[in-house]
Amino acid sequence: MDDRDERLDPADPAALLPGGRPHDRWMRLALDEARAAAAEDEVPVGAVVVAGGRIIASAHNQREQLADPTAHAEMIALTQAAAALGSWRLEGCVLYVTLEPCPMCAGAILQARVPVVVWGAADPKAGAVESLYRLFDDPRLNHQVEHVGRVLADECGRILTEFFRGKRG
Ligand code: ZN
Repeated sequence: MDDRDERLDPADPAALLPGGRPHDRWMRLALDEARAAAAEDEVPVGAVVVAGGRIIASAHNQREQLADPTAHAEMIALTQAAAALGSWRLEGCVLYVTLEPCPMCAGAILQARVPVVVWGAADPKAGAVESLYRLFDDPRLNHQVEHVGRVLADECGRILTEFFRGKRG
């Protein structure tokens, strides 16, 4: 699979929205990361960062392994992306994550000035994009984030449901 043949133009945010197919494709890579988390007995959430039609970061939740409450998939992916770009300012990047970001991750996404976030399953217990808060749309903050939700939501949600069902069983 060649990730460069279906380029997203980072200079044109409109080209990133709503566009179904490219979003599905990158979300599937985030889902691969979520599966890797499940295989490591971590809550299965995965994230990738795309810039210029290429993956520059790819991470999954590692809270247990790192014994770090901040080791959510998005936080690790943001750090990787900043290292790849040599800048904390992630202009022209799209972050894909399988679960609606929590307040911590939404805060970090705002700090990084990420222009577009695409998320999978809604999180009614911690979601900070639509479910509990709308941090990306808050005009009091100095940055707003374009966001598209519920991309491959069933698949993104199912992997979490199955993980927790396995825990209980
Ligand atoms: Zn989070």
